[in-house]
Amino acid sequence: MTASLSDFKKECARIARLVQINALVDWDQQTNMPPGGAEARAEHSATLSELIHGISTSDSYGELLANAEAELQGADPDDDDARLLRVARRDYDRATKLPSRLVADLARHSAISQDRWVRARAENDFAGFAPYLERMFELTREAAEHLGYEDHIYDALIDNYETGARQRQVSDMFADLKPKLVELTQAIAASGRPVDSSILRGRFPIEKQKVVTTRVVSAIGYEFSRGRQDEAAHPFCTNFSRDDVRITTRFDPGYIGIALYASMHEAGHALYEQGIPSEFDASPLGSGTSLGIHESQSRLWENLVGRSRPFARFLFPHLKDAFPDVLDGAQAEDFYRAVNSVSPSLIRIDADEVTYNLHVMLRFELECELLTGALAISDLPEAWNARMEEYLGVRPPDDAHGVLQDVHWSAGIIGYFPTYSIGNLVSGQLWHAIRKAVPNLDDRIEIGSFASILNWLRANVHRHGRKFEPGELVQMATGEPLTSSYYVDYLTAKYSDIYEL
Ligand code: ZN
Repeated sequence: MTASLSDFKKECARIARLVQINALVDWDQQTNMPPGGAEARAEHSATLSELIHGISTSDSYGELLANAEAELQGADPDDDDARLLRVARRDYDRATKLPSRLVADLARHSAISQDRWVRARAENDFAGFAPYLERMFELTREAAEHLGYEDHIYDALIDNYETGARQRQVSDMFADLKPKLVELTQAIAASGRPVDSSILRGRFPIEKQKVVTTRVVSAIGYEFSRGRQDEAAHPFCTNFSRDDVRITTRFDPGYIGIALYASMHEAGHALYEQGIPSEFDASPLGSGTSLGIHESQSRLWENLVGRSRPFARFLFPHLKDAFPDVLDGAQAEDFYRAVNSVSPSLIRIDADEVTYNLHVMLRFELECELLTGALAISDLPEAWNARMEEYLGVRPPDDAHGVLQDVHWSAGIIGYFPTYSIGNLVSGQLWHAIRKAVPNLDDRIEIGSFASILNWLRANVHRHGRKFEPGELVQMATGEPLTSSYYVDYLTAKYSDIYEL
């Protein structure tokens, strides 16, 4: 390795360690910290974030990067080091395009605005929150102008979360998806065959739920020697190296659905991070490539595997062992149907597989319109409610169950929502490729053998880290560009069977 390249990599590792320490501080805040620690913890995070931002946008970092690039000129562009420099260059250019005054304004306003959002949601007071949201969109528009874009202001923002994704492409994807999902949702509602999900409710002691979730995430390949599971109000996955990837879950003693599927979802994220090659650790390539691809991993394990009939057959005997009283007389098929009940609801995070993307679509359309000025903040609640009625057939009784339900916009996370749907579509496309590659997939799942699925994901997704952009990765892994057809086919086949459409 050339001296400049190795100097640059050392600097990258130093920054990556600081980022990992910051993640550790955040993990502790969400799992163990006593309430009294909040104030000091905010200072810990702010100090570290400022330090990291300072180093990674400094002139000296830029110089190290430029020297490494000069030394690597003429190298194979797909070589790991060439790709590493490309990713580092992209990150550096984006980070240095924003004036530090704007970065500080955004950070400050985000803290205030989130605080106002919490209050507004509790008090169902959109009008009180509106000026803060207005300001957030102003600052975001300003940031987008600095970042630059060719066609649509949204392009500058989505690129933060999904490199290479464009507003037009997302809008085409949704235009294709929307009528199919609306039609399927209406057909299910009209079928007159509601699915009984009552067996998911009852007395499920938390200690026993822990035994089950531990067994499940271990079975799919999550390594506890390189991770652990704790409880958190909002389950998440975080990591401090590829060999310390932690997951969290939430237990409800009266409902088995939350802990089980939150565990599988977060373990899906964790399997991705545990599968990043050790040589990429603490480097710009050492994590998942985008939020959409990350979400494809979590959704694949949670839904394509976890809500499948063969998985229900694998899991049900374990559930019966743990909870013999509540599940007395029930069959695996009852459980399968219960975890796949579809009903249009007001809240995105509670949505089933069929209606989930309609919630995302609505947010995407509204944030595009807010950014371009086609929609005024004051008209947002009514636009939200009208579209909920149009897409899902339900109308929020108040703004707390409507436009105020998500934290994202208040925190300045604008351009992010489509990554949830991209993740769903990618999960369907990967699943189709896995089915072709792995014979007798359902039989394997039914006996609790998941290694062939994990090995396929390791070989085709995990091992690349951030080396390839999401679009390139999907093309390489599945042989074609991202399409919604596999996901739609999956939903249609599955729910036509369950609801006898
Ligand atoms: Zn997720």
